[in-house]
Parts: sequence; structure tokens; C-alpha cells
Amino acid sequence: VLLWWWIAIAEAEYIKYKDPKQPLKVRITDLMSRMTLEEKIGQMVQIDRIVATPEIMKNYSIGSVLSGGGSTPLPEASAADWVNMVNMFQKGSLSTRLGIPMIYGIDAVHGHNNVYNATIFPHNIGLGATGDPELVRRIGAATALEVRATGIPYIFAPCIAVCRDPRWGRCYESYSEDHKIVEEMTDIILGLQGEVPAGSRKAVPYVGGKNKVAACAKHFVGDGGTTKGINENNTVIDMHGLLSIHMPAYADSIFKGVSTIMVSYSSWNGIKMHANHYLVTRFLKETLKFKGFVISDWEGIDRITSPPHSNYSYSVQAGIQAGIDMVMVPFNYIEFIDDLTYMVKHKIIPMERIDDAVGRILLVKFTMGLFENPLADLSLVNELGKQEHRDLAREAVRKSLVLLKNGKNANDPLLPLPKKTSKILVAGTHADNLGYQCGGWTINWQGFNGNNYTSGTTILGAITSTVDPSTKVVYRENPDGDFVKSNNFAFAIVVVGEYPYAESIGDSVSLTMVDPGTNVISNVCKAVKCVVVIISGRPVVIEPYMSLIDALVAAWLPGTEGQGLTDVLFGDYGFSGKLSRTWFKNVDQLPMNVGDSHYDPLFPFGFGLATKTVVARSTSAGVGGRPHLFTIMAMVFISLYLGITLD
Ligand code: BGC
Repeated sequence: VLLWWWIAIAEAEYIKYKDPKQPLKVRITDLMSRMTLEEKIGQMVQIDRIVATPEIMKNYSIGSVLSGGGSTPLPEASAADWVNMVNMFQKGSLSTRLGIPMIYGIDAVHGHNNVYNATIFPHNIGLGATGDPELVRRIGAATALEVRATGIPYIFAPCIAVCRDPRWGRCYESYSEDHKIVEEMTDIILGLQGEVPAGSRKAVPYVGGKNKVAACAKHFVGDGGTTKGINENNTVIDMHGLLSIHMPAYADSIFKGVSTIMVSYSSWNGIKMHANHYLVTRFLKETLKFKGFVISDWEGIDRITSPPHSNYSYSVQAGIQAGIDMVMVPFNYIEFIDDLTYMVKHKIIPMERIDDAVGRILLVKFTMGLFENPLADLSLVNELGKQEHRDLAREAVRKSLVLLKNGKNANDPLLPLPKKTSKILVAGTHADNLGYQCGGWTINWQGFNGNNYTSGTTILGAITSTVDPSTKVVYRENPDGDFVKSNNFAFAIVVVGEYPYAESIGDSVSLTMVDPGTNVISNVCKAVKCVVVIISGRPVVIEPYMSLIDALVAAWLPGTEGQGLTDVLFGDYGFSGKLSRTWFKNVDQLPMNVGDSHYDPLFPFGFGLATKTVVARSTSAGVGGRPHLFTIMAMVFISLYLGITLD
């Protein structure tokens, strides 16, 4: 009898979901069988760290916290400060009845960009120009380490938008106008999350331990195809176009084990993606068999109605019914919880929908070992901004640079520049400004202006440390022509471009450089041989100045490691980058992508000179490039299938 009692007590105390030896499915089912409706709905909520407290985490069983773009930055916080903050929220979650850990997420879209002293890599447009998925995978691994150094296990990247119009303020977050390049670059997921081990099933969320983070492919789907490149606008395209241009990178990401997918603010043919049951549930979850969780964008549910939040219950119903599992910042999380609870209790939203959402969230949390290791320690803090990562960022800068012109004629190249000469001029708004060089999503949402916000090397700093000590470097932001003429410079390096921006604030119809950028080009290039370096998130208007310019380099938004540029300008390495997007002559041509019938670019997609010889990457044929035959066959099959079964 005693033995029987002992076994009965041991069994009663044994909690299956806490046992890592149990299969995932068993753990999830066991945990969900113990959860109340309120606890389940809490898991579906992600709140901003500005409003979060350990008590709120506990009282509402909140599933996730984020540092969003709009959060006030923590500029001077060290990695240890971040770890302590994340752990503080986590302790709130662990003190709930069932002790379900929360998952903390952050935008780390070009390195750990919210964090002071992190390594800032080139934005995606530059990575697209490298054409080097293996490099991008290493960047993913480095980013994961820097993010984990601050105690954070989840990031809202990569952005796998296929930007079809450079007027879009998020064009720099897109690797390319060609889906094929974007597809290749989804290899970053393997670096961020770790590679799915041989023999395991592909296409299920995978995060390989404490040095890795859960990734998020965004923004599903068609965010880069909106009319006139207006952010969050409508993408007008038929199913075939959607499947062949904007969808393939999602199929790749799922195959590579991506843990989460974020829904786009934009609409597809007039239907808000956040309310699109057809694409989010039928297509993404059922047809593409995505098993991770779908997250909304920031207040994305609120924006289902216009003006946002005008019919909240409707928005909650439409968003959750569309298939959104985790809601990033419901405008008022208490109202959201109340509304959703009411709708489930009154069978307006079926319980199965909630169970689907929570099951997916728990799957990711269990898979990444959050239940076993919910609290971060300080063991990785030295990973943040470490030299090895900065060297990697410098390599990425080198490979991202696209040489568009070298010499007024082919026999008289200006590059590479000599390190030893009498005197050189460095000019332009962007020559000595780390903030401009990093672009948006750096420390602040909109980026920062100036040098002392984080650590790195400006282009001027890189030039000064690269040239021979006997070479005199003169720097003027906006020199006049007479000054340039009278100074006998051997040559000039003019660095101009765009100010930092993010999201809608970056939408532009003119695509001009900031003043006095073009003045500097005129003043300097008329007086001395000049290389113009453009720091921008996209092609900008340059055609009217081409005849003045001796050499032209597109440097995109290179990030903190300015020496990557001088490595190549001064010939330690050759130029190898190729345009991952078409460079237009004038904005009236837009949108214009490779394969379009009116294609008449200043520089075509795939163009890029080597330091001495002209080489162009083989460009894709037809609209949207040369797709994988297999992907397209599968997509067409799927679209036929959906066409038949949808009504
Ligand atoms: C952006 C997302 C981002 C989120 C959190 C939104 O405004 O569209 O890309 O992940 O904010 O910062």
C-alpha cells in the first residue's frame, strides 16, 4: 500500500511539460491542458518594454515583451544592463501559476542596432549587392551572438521584402528587386537560428541553443510591391505575380526553419494583410505548412480599420480570425484581452483558433529551450561589438560597394587611389558622420545624426588612417570652387547622400540627395579629379552630374565600419559588388525593374565594375528575374489548387 501511495504521489507531482525529455508535442499538450483561457490569451500578447512591469507580466500572463523601433532608446545601456532588464521582466513571467517564460524581441535588422556599441552591419540593400549568402549567414551568426549578449532571444529580422520601387522608405531593408537574390539571402536565417541538424525535419521552427535567436521573416506579404512605393499602401498584383515575386522567399525561409513570420501593414488588392485569412491561414499555415507563430506588426491589428482603432472589436476579430497568433502591441492590451476573451466565451472566435495560436507560441518557446534557460546570464556580454564582428562588418562593406564609373574614359581609371601623394581633399555632408553612414534603425528608430552616439569609424577617419602618413588630408564639408582650385589637390573624395530615415518618413518622390550634396559635387569635381561616394538607402538622382564625376561608388548604408570603403578605394581589395537593383535615370521612369518593357536604366541591375575591368553579374531574365523552376512549378500548382478550393 505504501508503495502504491508513493507512486501515486510521485505521479501527481510529475509535470510532463517541465520535463525536457518528453517530446515537444507531449509537453505542449500537457501545458495547454493546464492553462485557463485568460492564460492562453495572455500568451498571445506582446507589449512594449516602456509599459511592461514584472507585475503586469504576472497579472496578465503576458507572452512577450519587445523593444520596438518607437521605444525610447537606451543609448548608454551596457550589455549587462540589458540582461538585467530582460531578466526583470522574465522573473515576472516565471512567477505566474504555470511559470511560462516570456520571449523578449527586438529589431536587429543590421546587427544589434538598438544597442550602444554593437557592430552595425550594412543594411540589406548593401548585402544584396555582395551576392554572397555565405557572408550573410556569418553576419546572422554574429548578430545572434550580439543579441544574446544582451539577454534577448528573438529578433524581428530578416526583412525579405522584394522592393519593386525605390521611392519606398524601406527599400534599403530589402536585399533586392529580384526575388532570386532575396531567396538566396534567406540563408541569414541559418546563421541567426543555426542550421537544422542533418536528419531532422526541415520546415519546422529551429533555434540551436543559447548562442542563437529566433528569427522573424517580414513583412508577409507583398510589402515591397505597394503602389508608387508608398509605405503600408496597397499592392496591386495578381496571384501569379504575388507567388512568383513576393512569395518565394517565404517558402525558402520556412524550409530553413524560420520560427516566426510578421504580417505586413500593407494590403493585397485592397484587403489588409492583417485581415487576410486566405493568405495567412490557408496559404501560409495550411499550404506552405508554416508551423511557427505569426506575429502582427506594431498596432497592426488596430490599423485594420481606418482610422486605426475606430472599430476595435471588429479589428481584433478580423486579425485573430485571419490567423495572427501573437499581437505586437495591441494599442491597449487590456482592451484587447477583454475583447478577445469575450469573443471566445461567446463563441464568436472558436477556441480552436486560440489553441492553434498558443500551441505555435509554445512550440517556439519550447524549441529554443526557454523553459530550461529562461534567465540570461552575463557569459556572453563580451560578444557585443567585438573585433571579430567588426572585421566581418568591414568585409561586408568591402563586398557591398558597387563601382559605377571609373575614369572619364576606360583607359584612364582613377581607382584604385594611391595611398601616398601630396595632398587630398575629402568633402561632403556624409564624409564624417557615423549616423548618416548607419542610416535608419540605428540606436533610434529614425537613426541618428553625428558621431558620438555609438562607436565606429567614419569614412574620413578611415581615410586618415589608411593613407601614408606623408599624405596631407584636408577635410571641408562644403568647399567652394576657388578653394579647391587654389589648393593643388591630387584628387578629391566627395561623400554625399541621404539623411537617415525609417518607414513612411523615408518615402520620397524626388529621390534627391540632401543639400548641399550636388553643389559639393559641382564645386569639387569641376576643379579636381574626384571620386564620388554615395551613402544612401537606394539609387538616387545622379544622372545630371555624371559628366562631372570621374569615379562613382554606391556605398549604400555601410554601418559602423568605414574602413571597408577605404580597403577598396585604396586598392587593398578589388571592387566586386553588383547592383541588386536598377539605377534609374530619372524618377519619371519609376517603377522600373529588370525585365520591364520600358527598361532604360542609367545602370542596369547586376552592373558593377571591377577595379579595372568591366564585369556584370548575369542578370535575371523576365519580370521578377529567373525564378527557380521548381519553386515556380510548386507555386503554380498551389495557386491552381487554391483557385479551385477557394470560395
Ligand atoms: C515595423 C516592423 C518592426 C516593428 C517593431 C514596425 O513599425 O514595421 O518592421 O519590426 O515596428 O519595431
